[in-house]
Amino acid sequence: MENKNFKAKVGLEIHQQLNVGRKLFCDCPIMEYDEAEHRILRYLRPTQSELGEVDPAVMFEFRKNKANIYIYNSRASCLVECDEEPPHPINMDAVKAAITVALALGSKIVEELHVMRKIVIDGSNTTGFQRTVLVALDGVLNADGIEVPVQTISVEEDAARLIEERDDAKVFSLDRLGVPLIEISLAPIEADPKTVEKVALALGRLLRLTGFAARGLGTIRQDINISIEGFPPCEVKGVQKLDLIPKVIEYEMMRQYHLYNIARLLKEKGLDSNSSVGEYVDVTNLFEETGSKVVRNALDNGKKVYGIRLIGFRGLFKMEPYPNVRLGLELAEMARAYGLGGIIHSDELPAYGISSEDVERVKAYLSVGESDAFILILANERDFDALSALRQRMLQFFEGPVPETRGPTGDGRTKYSRPRPGAARMYPETDIPLIRVSKELIEECRRFVPRPWNEVLKDYMQKYGLNEKLANQILDSAYLGLFERVCSTTRLSPTLVAVVLTEHLVNISREGLDISILDEKRLFELFQLLDSGQISKESVIDILRCMCKEGISASDCIRRLGLKPITEEELAKMVHDTVLSNRSLVESLRERSFGPLMGMLMEKVRGKADGGKVSRLLKEEIARLLQNT
Ligand SMILES: [Zn+2]
Repeated sequence: MENKNFKAKVGLEIHQQLNVGRKLFCDCPIMEYDEAEHRILRYLRPTQSELGEVDPAVMFEFRKNKANIYIYNSRASCLVECDEEPPHPINMDAVKAAITVALALGSKIVEELHVMRKIVIDGSNTTGFQRTVLVALDGVLNADGIEVPVQTISVEEDAARLIEERDDAKVFSLDRLGVPLIEISLAPIEADPKTVEKVALALGRLLRLTGFAARGLGTIRQDINISIEGFPPCEVKGVQKLDLIPKVIEYEMMRQYHLYNIARLLKEKGLDSNSSVGEYVDVTNLFEETGSKVVRNALDNGKKVYGIRLIGFRGLFKMEPYPNVRLGLELAEMARAYGLGGIIHSDELPAYGISSEDVERVKAYLSVGESDAFILILANERDFDALSALRQRMLQFFEGPVPETRGPTGDGRTKYSRPRPGAARMYPETDIPLIRVSKELIEECRRFVPRPWNEVLKDYMQKYGLNEKLANQILDSAYLGLFERVCSTTRLSPTLVAVVLTEHLVNISREGLDISILDEKRLFELFQLLDSGQISKESVIDILRCMCKEGISASDCIRRLGLKPITEEELAKMVHDTVLSNRSLVESLRERSFGPLMGMLMEKVRGKADGGKVSRLLKEEIARLLQNT
């Protein structure tokens, strides 16, 4: 970041799925199972609050006019998730998990648990609300010497899983709806992005050590509130990977800082929003003869071209002080979120087949001066709401960063997803009686409070002979349980098992392969083959690649790759033949002939024989030859 003095405030809210056997308010198991057996279609409709207001975020979703389709299978969901049956009593194991975490963080546990309903607006819950239970308040997280205040600890139900977003409907699977989550809100801290990542890591580790946390991608999600000094925060929802956290924060800081600078620049020019941002003007007529395919297509589909003049904005839309931080992008992504096919601003014209003659005609029609800019939007007349939201956003360019809900793009950027909802409206869940938290329950949970990470780490290094890096990696890994199982049932070296389960898998997923297919059963088979000597450790990574690419088992991969291992006798003969046919080399280089000969042999047997075995046989064979000469 160029401006180091510009501080960001960051608040983390962590959602961790709990591995407690069944869902929060019914007996359905926790599993991904989206084979559709039943299908429900519903529309969500906005209603006014007691004060006669409609939440802007609710309107945003409603405007899209999309149906919600829920698919479910009775193996993973029941009538509770369909909202056709009242919720069952709360899963007390989930409550115990939250109390355990609360004890570990020194939080105050509430005396009574009240299940509440929190409005959900994006269709991800069949009821239109999410059930949530506050379990504890306050507390402190100790993250590597940094103390972060804890605000609240709650248990809540996970949302349905979005599996397809179509123009006319969103399709959700109900398998994830109702899965228990623990939600921990940390107070905003002023810290650099890397430190925030450390804080999230420390909290994630604490959760994993309790043994209640589910492991694997998608089981932990972070919402990050980010604001620069003096401005309201933007919320980036659903960051799944830890290493994205610092990138997301840096991007948001740059983006918000740019918006702040734009506002300052406009003020310096003596401009104000009302006189600078014009009204929409229908300029469709000016494009009757246009050679632009983009515009032509839109007109053929019954759309119109709306133009809007912005006094004093020339050059501001394309200004890019940091990578991918532009006012033009800001508006375009917002337009897309509202279902408009993007926008065109004058800084980028002529382009998209829009000629300089087209540009001149628009400029004349809208009275766009030398230092002004204009924006063209291709939209239907019924897109009035979206258009006015976009104009509203243009007016806000004079205010600096504005609060909104954003989403991670996956590459460390963020993009607009919807307006910030109004104050969270919660009301009691009347189907579930309140639950008293007894002293006995708290005492029972005290047994689960984990030891500090560093102690557990040391034990692990000792028990398995792992170095610190590997021990950290395997303790953080989704495959910890598998690691322990393989170590206790095979003679393989724990270091080798840990390397395969952490570094090998990271490497092949960086190569772009989908490792989600590698479930514990498939990986366990691979280790068994390795243990019984049917494959060599050199071939493991190729077999993993093949398993991901082809979606087949380890033993099928061995056949596919022709990795049938060489028998002891075959190998011994091969080593013998290689030494004999290189006799003169051995006689001149003596023991030093080992290197080149080993290279030759490994080229022939890589993946089919263990390197250590080859080396042992080769040394013996060289010694024998030298003895006889
Ligand atoms: Zn159920």
